[in-house]
Amino acid sequence: MAAAAGDGGSVPPKSPTAEAPPASQPRLTPNTMPWERCVAGVQSALKDPLARFLREQIEKAGCTVWPTLIRAAICTASGGYTSGKGIEVCCNHMRKQDEITQVIIHELVHAYDDCVVKNINWNNCAHHACSEIRANHLSGNCHYKRELMKGFLKIKGHEPECVKRRALLSVQNNPSCRGKAAKEAVENVWDTCYNDPRPFDKAP
Ligand SMILES: [Zn+2]
Repeated sequence: MAAAAGDGGSVPPKSPTAEAPPASQPRLTPNTMPWERCVAGVQSALKDPLARFLREQIEKAGCTVWPTLIRAAICTASGGYTSGKGIEVCCNHMRKQDEITQVIIHELVHAYDDCVVKNINWNNCAHHACSEIRANHLSGNCHYKRELMKGFLKIKGHEPECVKRRALLSVQNNPSCRGKAAKEAVENVWDTCYNDPRPFDKAP
């Protein structure tokens, strides 16, 4: 299989895709962590309870995660997942531990979908959109404190709005889903995928 998903995105085969960079950030992220701290941060993130739970569920489903799946890298988004290759955390964009942990949880949701969803095709915009919606929702990428710090907070209904915005950005990075295709895919699968919390009982 070949596919990748970025920190908000999944990608097509053989071109490790990157998640869309946060809309609020320029391509060059200021105040990034030193490389060694980011590498250590990846290790700490693996101890996060949500990351551990996702790992267990992926392994239960018969796929492997640690230790080769997750690595620190220099890349163009915040992170990415490539089917058969694993997860990259773009350390050149990481400013703090919480961001690393978020990226890893987000990408683990893609890895889970890649393992569990039958015949998932990352070049299929609906498949990619569904996994992005789930990854952004279940990873807490849009929990209000984080959004507040990024200046995106609008109290009511902001979480779904944020999930949709981020999912769209990542799907738009998929060369198979340019233009209207990304938006249509996100809208078409929204209800089903936003309300699918697997492997959690409900969104953490
Ligand atoms: Zn993603």
